[in-house]
Amino acid sequence: MNIPFQNTYARLPARFFTHQTAVPVKAPHLIRFNDALARDLGIVPGGADEIAAVLAGNLVAPGSEPLAQVYAGHQFGGFSPQLGDGRALLLGEVVDRAGERRDIQLKGSGPTPYSRMGDGRAWLGPVLREYVVSEAMHALGLPTTRALAAVATGEAVYREAGGLPGAILTRVAASHLRVGTFQYFAARRDLDGLRALYDYTVARHFPQVEGPAHLLAEVIRRQAKLVAGWMSVGFIHGVMNTDNTAISGETIDYGPCAFMDVFHPQTVFSSIDVQGRYSYDNQAHVIVWNMAQLATALVPLMPDQDEAIEDFTALVHAMPDQIETEWRRAFGRKIGIAKAGAADAPLIGDLLARMADNRADFTNTFRALLTGHARDQFLDPAAFDNWEAQWRARLKAEADPEAVMAMANPAFIPRNHRIEQMIEAAVSGDFAPFERLLKVLENPYQDQPEASDLARPPEPAEVVQNTFCGT
Ligand code: AMP
Ligand code: MG
Repeated sequence: MNIPFQNTYARLPARFFTHQTAVPVKAPHLIRFNDALARDLGIVPGGADEIAAVLAGNLVAPGSEPLAQVYAGHQFGGFSPQLGDGRALLLGEVVDRAGERRDIQLKGSGPTPYSRMGDGRAWLGPVLREYVVSEAMHALGLPTTRALAAVATGEAVYREAGGLPGAILTRVAASHLRVGTFQYFAARRDLDGLRALYDYTVARHFPQVEGPAHLLAEVIRRQAKLVAGWMSVGFIHGVMNTDNTAISGETIDYGPCAFMDVFHPQTVFSSIDVQGRYSYDNQAHVIVWNMAQLATALVPLMPDQDEAIEDFTALVHAMPDQIETEWRRAFGRKIGIAKAGAADAPLIGDLLARMADNRADFTNTFRALLTGHARDQFLDPAAFDNWEAQWRARLKAEADPEAVMAMANPAFIPRNHRIEQMIEAAVSGDFAPFERLLKVLENPYQDQPEASDLARPPEPAEVVQNTFCGT
């Protein structure tokens, strides 16, 4: 196996990370390798046993300088001055065929100095969940980390439920720079560290950026688009802590995330999110709060801090309008409006309110706008009929609403109950449902009649109420 590793992060000052090798596992076995992604990354795979050994961390690949990154973060609003890769290792970076630098990271590779009470491991369930959901997110067209491989460790991992099969995910990311990485150095008043981080971030992601205010504006722009994108596919991240908010604007850290079936704006899946801080609707507010934390961490970089606070505050205060614009554009496309203007927002909001009142399935309702069967999704179909008249009138001004909707309304999302069923099968050794989910979700905007069971909402007995942090 040849991975053309580079190690720019390892060249940062020593206090940015800890050199750390993976703790070898008993019997690494390759569950799945993402050949197409590997090709994009310029990786020459080799045999399954070698891939499993390298991506379980049993073999250190030539050129890799594995390390655990340190960061901080607000978790559910409370600040932890020191977190870090507690069960992950950055193996290094590769420059992909498009010229973009990408991190190659193992998740579940054993304890590090940042593990606190954790065992540094992951079990099969969350590994397969992240594999499927992150690849689905990519196919849906949203920025996200990717999954390169899943490897079984041949060891048991102990959780509340008892002994579970262990696994390691290989994650690919534009970088693992987080809001929390900036917070780490800012909280320690390590100005040199903060400067080095700023320079690294700009060189890696934002070469056109001139100054911290400009960087903040760019991250805000990307995050506004990302969160609106999540909402447009019914995605609930579930742990939007500042350590799980990537500077690159990618979706990162698939833990208790889930896609909604029945639409309700206050939906929460995560078992630990008792206050609904990261509910579907609140994502648009919390991301602004997270950007305010990034702004705070960037202030020390500025020569005139009072002026910086004023400028950065203005940028953060402008974010809700940006999210609203992105949201309107994304949902406008879902109802066939190519470039929705402010005047279209009430039409979108009205549909969503009726969907919530009528327990309509989020994905299937929008998809059915194309086929003319949307009213069947409503408890009271008349609630749709009243909206439809205004909608049809508005669509007269659109050139090709069907084409716009077909690209904006997926037929397939990774439904929670299917993920749970897939995990259950995998635990008993049957990976066919995992492979099938992956295959179907590669083309979420295509009708695939043979997979209609995967488009069906859960039966009452199949409904998954809670998801758990991927520990
Ligand atoms: P999360 O909110 O899932 O991103 O995790 C928060 C922190 O907990 C991160 O610093 C993780 O590295 C750490 N963590 C989560 N699970 C484990 C585990 N099983 N062992 C060690 N550290 C963990
Ligand atoms: Mg995390």
